Amino acid sequence: MKTIPHVLVVAGSDSSGGAGIVRDIETLAAFGVKASVAITAVTVQTHQGVEHVDAVAPDRVAQQMRASLSANPIAAIKIGMLATSATIAAVAQVLADHPDIPVVLDPVLVSTSGRALLLPDATDALLELFSSCMLVTPNLPELLVLAAVPRSVADQARTLLAAGAKAVLVKGGHANGMEAIDILFQPEQAEQSFASPRLTATMRGTGCMLASAVAARLAFGDPLPAAVALAKAFVYDKFRET
Ligand code: PLP
Repeated sequence: MKTIPHVLVVAGSDSSGGAGIVRDIETLAAFGVKASVAITAVTVQTHQGVEHVDAVAPDRVAQQMRASLSANPIAAIKIGMLATSATIAAVAQVLADHPDIPVVLDPVLVSTSGRALLLPDATDALLELFSSCMLVTPNLPELLVLAAVPRSVADQARTLLAAGAKAVLVKGGHANGMEAIDILFQPEQAEQSFASPRLTATMRGTGCMLASAVAARLAFGDPLPAAVALAKAFVYDKFRET
């Protein structure tokens, strides 16, 4: 009998179900992957805004990760909201003990409604986490904050590669044009583009879904570009359904 791969999700809860760990688990289920979780924060949210954020104690986040890793055959890890630099440090310690598990990091900084989901003083700590990641998936505003250089998207992405990420997928959802184009940057390789028709509606949680979908496919052993292509197609289909 084939074992079903597990993905460990390290992320925050969103009471509205629009983003965060609910979206992650829905996505992993759609890909036929088992989910285990380490909750980093409990957020009180509607679809209009974030009303409250309680960060889980960093040690407790690390304990959840270690328990999940010992309970299940984890084949990939997806990281979303991290809330504080202390949590980032705790997560980094656990990842250091599991260097062979591919990690997909969605660098969640601010909610669509404008509330900080990572404390502003934690940006440098987040950059340090990149060296543990196979893929980092910033949108354009996150890319600008993290790269801290107002240059071209390619230059900004290469700044994140220099920080240690093995690959950077820049999501074009915040750009304009008929197509939403995501670009995959890897060291010493030509960039690869992934396009889908741009839909006019906005949907919350697309960043969570994309990163979880990539993690799901990596858990099945797909090469990164194939995982990204399937993940992008999945998010587009979900978007169209709503
Ligand atoms: N809440 C949580 C717990 C999240 O993880 C995220 C994004 O990853 C958000 C909210 C932000 O989602 P959105 O910008 O789609 O509102």
